[in-house]
Amino acid sequence: TAALRFSGVSKKFKDGTVALTGADLAVAPGEFVTVVGPSGCGKSTLLRIASGLDKASDGEVAVHSKSVGYVFQDATLLPWRTVRDNVGLLAELEHMDKKERERRVRDAIDLVGLTGFEKHLPMELSGGMRMRVSLARSMVLAPDVFLFDEPFGALDEITRERLNDELLRMFIQSRFAALFITHSVQEAVFLSGRVLVMSGRPGRVKAEVTVPFDYPRA
Ligand code: ADP
Ligand code: ADP
Repeated sequence: TAALRFSGVSKKFKDGTVALTGADLAVAPGEFVTVVGPSGCGKSTLLRIASGLDKASDGEVAVHSKSVGYVFQDATLLPWRTVRDNVGLLAELEHMDKKERERRVRDAIDLVGLTGFEKHLPMELSGGMRMRVSLARSMVLAPDVFLFDEPFGALDEITRERLNDELLRMFIQSRFAALFITHSVQEAVFLSGRVLVMSGRPGRVKAEVTVPFDYPRA
């Protein structure tokens, strides 16, 4: 069964704007799917509905994961909290056992290459490093489903490519189901073998492109 499935999902906002009509998609466990499409076609709306931040007006949404990792374009860190405390935030909110939390925070910080920066504050870090903190924070609860809303869109090209490499490395290690939004076809094809193409207003999934793709082994 799919980790994430949309069947005929539509979204009409209070002001009457219809952002999605009849969107269908499914992401299998351990599958990385990207979504491309022009601004305004409903990509963010799709992700907000998948995450539960927003509700569909019609259709069915099923998510099979006890928690969902959500990574936004803006790293959304708490400025007065250190790297370590930002990464541990969700585990704290879940009242995770302290030892377990500390272990997971250490592992996540290590995975994104920020060991040694635990006590830094977000403002002391570069944009790329802040995004790494945001990635580490989303990994701490080990969700089976990850949603990425143009996470690297605001970064310079080199940092972006480096983070895409690392994201693939994390994916190969953890094998979560991922839905990754971008407006870059190049980025989509770099990250996944299945690219969903959205277009139109209101948006719907218009096409699906499968690219021969072999993930390197862990
Ligand atoms: P994308 O992420 O592809 O750029 P969005 O999902 O952000 O597109 O937006 C899809 C459409 O819905 C756009 O026309 C946008 O202006 C509209 N929209 C998004 N959020 C709201 C809202 N809260 N209220 C009304 N219209 C909205
Ligand atoms: P990336 O995000 O891909 O690591 P950056 O340009 O953000 O690239 O940073 C490159 C490297 O420079 C970082 O990995 C880090 O080692 C170092 N660095 C950047 N900003 C700082 C900082 N404020 N304090 C200490 N080291 C930094």
